[in-house]
Amino acid sequence: MKRIDEISPQFLEVLESHGISRRDFIKFCGATAALLGLSELYIPQIARALEKAKKPSLVWLDFQNCAGDIEALLKASKPTIAEIVLDVLSVDYHATIMAPAGRQAEKSLRDVVKNQKGKYLAIVDGAIPLKDGGVYACVAGRSAIDIAREVCGNAYATICVGTCSSFGGLPAAKPNPTGAVGVRDAIPGLTLINLPGCPMNPENITATLVHFLTFGSLPATDQLGRPLFAYGKRIHDNCERRAHYDAGQFVREWGDAGHRQGWCLYEMGCKGPEAFLNCPTVKYNERTSWPVQAGHGCLACAVPNFWDTMTPFYRRLPNAPGFGVESTADKIGLGLAAATAAGIAAHGIIRAIRPKEEEKGE
Ligand code: SF4
Repeated sequence: MKRIDEISPQFLEVLESHGISRRDFIKFCGATAALLGLSELYIPQIARALEKAKKPSLVWLDFQNCAGDIEALLKASKPTIAEIVLDVLSVDYHATIMAPAGRQAEKSLRDVVKNQKGKYLAIVDGAIPLKDGGVYACVAGRSAIDIAREVCGNAYATICVGTCSSFGGLPAAKPNPTGAVGVRDAIPGLTLINLPGCPMNPENITATLVHFLTFGSLPATDQLGRPLFAYGKRIHDNCERRAHYDAGQFVREWGDAGHRQGWCLYEMGCKGPEAFLNCPTVKYNERTSWPVQAGHGCLACAVPNFWDTMTPFYRRLPNAPGFGVESTADKIGLGLAAATAAGIAAHGIIRAIRPKEEEKGE
């Protein structure tokens, strides 16, 4: 295995041209290995994969989306995916940020599909509308479903970024006027990985691409096609406010004393107990913060149909803590005193049966 100090001078020059030092690069490889759950012994292998001269092609398709995923990606921390991973890959088509336009841009896409069949990666951002022949999302005169069938169908693999391409997201929320679905439902049988989230975390697509470059395969996934390294742990179990949950210390009102002291947001509608994602550990914006740290509950944005099943966002989950969601997974913190549990349960039950008039105000 190549040692980390054997990085070629040419590659170091490329890094330096992007303002990335050797130290930054090694740090990036180490952080990515950790994110993927790999031992540090893999760091040289990752470095070597990123250094490779051969650049697999990548095309990025935009359908029914808000551009939040590419926004998140372009604001990724240093060394950025654009500066390292996308430099290693050959991004041959990206409607939002590519320089060519019109026929020239579409030719780039056709060329990749024709000349790199079975070798390129397709990234899809956005849901695919199926109603009325798919007319509600068209690019260059072709429907999204038509493009996706051809481009994803001929790719080595498809990576769905964000909840819309993974599960339909907001476009698929009731009443779903365009018949929007995620890519896996639109085109069953694809080799595909889902990176849901509103937006998906740039660190997770970076790690997914690094895994592909290093091992030539996609990372292991759960039944929903989500990589286990990122979606294998429950938000609630890694949340920095968890001790307050276990102690029965809940925010009751925005801006109250508990809110100012960083208490648990369960009563304010936090869906962390039902959401699986690495937000508490990876965070966003150069690992600065994430919604719960900023004082807002988790919306479970990586869960299928969360717009329908997790709303109203500011109403607490229906099950009493310690007896509902917890009883189907891990037990509530072992140190939780019985009296506290009883108190929370009683409170939860009272809230669960509160009059409809009160709920209308939420
Ligand atoms: Fe954190 Fe939300 Fe769980 Fe409270 S309910 S510990 S705020 S994830």
